[in-house]
Amino acid sequence: MEERSVLMGRYEIGRLLGQGTFAKVYYSRNLATGQTVAIKVIDKDKIVKTGLMDQIKREISIMRLVRHPNILQLFEVMATKNKIYFVLEYAKGGELFNKIAKGKLTEEAARKYFQQLIGAVDYCHSRGVYHRDLKPENLLLDENETLKVSDFGLSALAESKRQDGLLHTACGTPAYVAPEVLSRKGYNGAQADVWSCGVILFVLAASYLPFHERNLIEMYKKISKAQYRCPRSFSAELKELLYGILNPDPNTRMPISRIKRSAWYRKPLGLAVLKTEIVNKTCTEATTSGLIDCVGSERNQGSLALANLNAFDIISLSTGFDLSRLFDEKYSQRGARFTSNQSAEAIFEKLKELARSLKLKVTKKDDGVLKLATTKEGRKGILELNAEIFEIAPSFVLVELKKTNGDTLEYQKLMTDGIRPSLEDIVWA
Ligand code: AMP
Repeated sequence: MEERSVLMGRYEIGRLLGQGTFAKVYYSRNLATGQTVAIKVIDKDKIVKTGLMDQIKREISIMRLVRHPNILQLFEVMATKNKIYFVLEYAKGGELFNKIAKGKLTEEAARKYFQQLIGAVDYCHSRGVYHRDLKPENLLLDENETLKVSDFGLSALAESKRQDGLLHTACGTPAYVAPEVLSRKGYNGAQADVWSCGVILFVLAASYLPFHERNLIEMYKKISKAQYRCPRSFSAELKELLYGILNPDPNTRMPISRIKRSAWYRKPLGLAVLKTEIVNKTCTEATTSGLIDCVGSERNQGSLALANLNAFDIISLSTGFDLSRLFDEKYSQRGARFTSNQSAEAIFEKLKELARSLKLKVTKKDDGVLKLATTKEGRKGILELNAEIFEIAPSFVLVELKKTNGDTLEYQKLMTDGIRPSLEDIVWA
């Protein structure tokens, strides 16, 4: 888009404010009223190609449903043949993340933002809207340093729950995602959002992630057991609150009603924090003084650069998640994993097609796992494989193939000669 161009005769488009996976956001001005806004421009083509049209429509309907001082307001939506334009409230203060990048916040400053975040999330939940992708990048500030939660692109309305009342899509950035979301068993959106709020609170007060591992699978393990260490500087009340929120069991995890009654949350805000409050520490000071009781590799997670990464950056940086090794001997003994940027449905279709061409019997089990089996018995009976698709983010899935029965050598031969070559075009490396 050209600088100073005018959109539909109504909005003057200015500088680029930021860029997400699918969208560019521009500073803009309503020519009739003079109001400054942010216009998020999305390429229709990209959306259609990645099958995200429904998600965008959902984003629009959700943003229309919610109106709260701490939620970024959507003023209007416009579209041309090739583009979709969201006219949004302008958040002059930019990303809250930039504040953390300058140094960890005092507990008081963290409390101020956390209270605003909880207020917004509680409001959304009361309307049956779950954000499901809460992370500092989605938290913006206006000119008064008021928190504005943005990006409801991954929200799911209560109606999209299945009969068991649980949401069933695993999505979001791994570092902020609740264990039950990662385990694909279906989850309660409210409890999952509470977990993400806990991770955000930790990051605000520590300036590094509670769960970070170079290897993504290791990170999932840490998340599923809620293995984290607080910096020694955290107050006892803050540690207690985090302990209640970062509980791997969603059913006993602290609900918002109790968070609001906790000692740390209820402490009154001092005058100073109502202005801007940052502990003026450089990155190096923060990592040497604040992280004393953090262990081993977790020390590195204090790196502010890392705190700024999204799921894709983490994955591409992780040597432990080296995609080229995913089909190695080591993995092919009992199973294999690979990542793909195709949708789960497309991968299911691909696996079914592959099974047909290899004359394997396919059954889709109740838990969504695809079972592939040979029709003839081998040395150790029927060779059976389970294929599980793990949606980490939209258009980013982890596929796990596991041998559940049969001979290992026969399995390896099937992998090498049949499955591996057929999957090459969907493996994302
Ligand atoms: P998004 O695609 O929504 O993640 O936006 C990409 C980036 O654009 C964000 O991370 C912000 O830095 C910036 N941005 C998005 N929306 C706004 C807004 N309403 N006001 C100011 N900056 C924004």
